[in-house]
Amino acid sequence: MKQSINLVIENALQELRTAGTESDGYEIRILLSDVLGVEPSVLMFGEVEMDEAQEKQFHESLEKRKHHMPTDKILGHRGFYKYDFKVSEDVLTPRPDTEILVEAAIEKIKGKKLESGKILELGVGSGCIICSVLAEFSALNGVGVDISAQALAIAKENAKELGVEKRLDLCLGNWFDKDFLSLVGKEYDILLSNPPYIKSEEIKKLDEEVKQYDPLMALDGGQDGLESYRQIAMLAPSLVKNGGYVFLEVGENQSKDVCRIFNAAGFVTEEIRKDLSAIERCVVLKKMSCI
Ligand code: GLN
Repeated sequence: MKQSINLVIENALQELRTAGTESDGYEIRILLSDVLGVEPSVLMFGEVEMDEAQEKQFHESLEKRKHHMPTDKILGHRGFYKYDFKVSEDVLTPRPDTEILVEAAIEKIKGKKLESGKILELGVGSGCIICSVLAEFSALNGVGVDISAQALAIAKENAKELGVEKRLDLCLGNWFDKDFLSLVGKEYDILLSNPPYIKSEEIKKLDEEVKQYDPLMALDGGQDGLESYRQIAMLAPSLVKNGGYVFLEVGENQSKDVCRIFNAAGFVTEEIRKDLSAIERCVVLKKMSCI
């Protein structure tokens, strides 16, 4: 049976609203386009016809959305920077704000002629950060570490999809472990990380979409949200070469504290970049040559 697209969307929005989930027409179009195997832009107006299997899939997607599952996790993929990345509940959803870290790292690698250098990402998750950077430079090599074997499996698939898997070593590890340095090695040109930075107390206030479907271990930064930064700063003098760089995503109002922690470890603040909401989101530090 043919139905008006606008009506399908309106009904879906009504269904979600009744269940207490906020959504919008764009989100429903994305879910519908996935079911129909067309681009969302095709679904601006006119009519659609779904067969039984498609009706069922659309209904199942709406059911998941009613339970606050975000669209990327319903679809199993999400656009980030220039690519589409596989995602699951085992990885943090790639956020547009994190693209700033990728852009900052790419600019620095070009500017400082580090194109054939070695980069390390701590907390690689879906791999969206390190794979995007590696894809930009064909002679760059990387190591990505995560505490979750499930996340590493997703990162591996994404690395394959982007054609960077031969230049990316993925390893299971915990930066709070004593033997962490022997696992990942030393003297990287660049260290990247979007570590967990939400204060433990604040986790319960997060949106259901985040709280229920992003892994807690990718969010919880301990009592003051800064525990992982302190640990990374302790390791960074060994992990990073003299004159090398550290790129960190930080939470709202954390940039000063994070810089202070790294300054005390022998790094100078090079730059602080703001995100799309003008929040200081990305901190760039350089290891001084004299330590
Ligand atoms: N940006 C995420 C959020 O605010 C948190 C990511 C992180 O802790 N690294 O939901």
